[in-house]
Amino acid sequence: MSTVDAQHEQDGRDETLTADAESLSAEQVIERMVERFHPRLLLASSFQQEESVLIDLLLKVEPRARVFTLDTGVLFPETYATWKAMEERWGIEIEPASGISLEQQAAQYGEALWERDPNRCCDIRKVTPLKEILAGVDGWIVGIRRDQSPTRANAPKIGWDDKHGIWKAAPLADWSEKDVWRHIHAHELPYNPLHDRGYASIGCTHCTVPAADRSGRWAGSDKLECGLHG
Ligand code: SF4
Repeated sequence: MSTVDAQHEQDGRDETLTADAESLSAEQVIERMVERFHPRLLLASSFQQEESVLIDLLLKVEPRARVFTLDTGVLFPETYATWKAMEERWGIEIEPASGISLEQQAAQYGEALWERDPNRCCDIRKVTPLKEILAGVDGWIVGIRRDQSPTRANAPKIGWDDKHGIWKAAPLADWSEKDVWRHIHAHELPYNPLHDRGYASIGCTHCTVPAADRSGRWAGSDKLECGLHG
């Protein structure tokens, strides 16, 4: 790579990655990311319906691809069971990324920080561990879909992630929720059973209630995101 190309890659102007990306299918976006970045590429899984699809597609392209999850320590038992079911289905190990222990957090910031300061809690349990694990790679793949919330409406299929200084792909950006479920059922993929119990979006136990969209996350507050994608 020439110095100019390297500079453009750092600046998020690498046209070999972004050119025509919007016309690519989810599989083609994944192929492009794998071709360019594997093994310095990670797929982020929160064990929601989108990740069932993405893990399936990614492993078809590269069976040794790396998948990780942010284990906050307060995920639903159903989510931990889905984690295990996915590892068994695909014969992989999903890497956990964690912050300080819940005990350390309580000692340092007091009990139930999620009730008093959810932004700080997300920062400790999600944002910081994410930063740490992404520091070791050049690209990551996420399950964002544009119709999930107004904050995601303009997510590019492949773009430069300024926050983490690496490339980021959202192969399902233009998929609808129906598309996701069609793929899951057609391929009989494991998925989080909470979706069948009214949870469209699933996070930590303390901050998620059943809802038809992301309004079930931090319900009753104006918080929309964990701070992972902004
Ligand atoms: S979603 Fe809630 S419990 Fe989970 S890290 Fe954020 S504030 Fe803490």
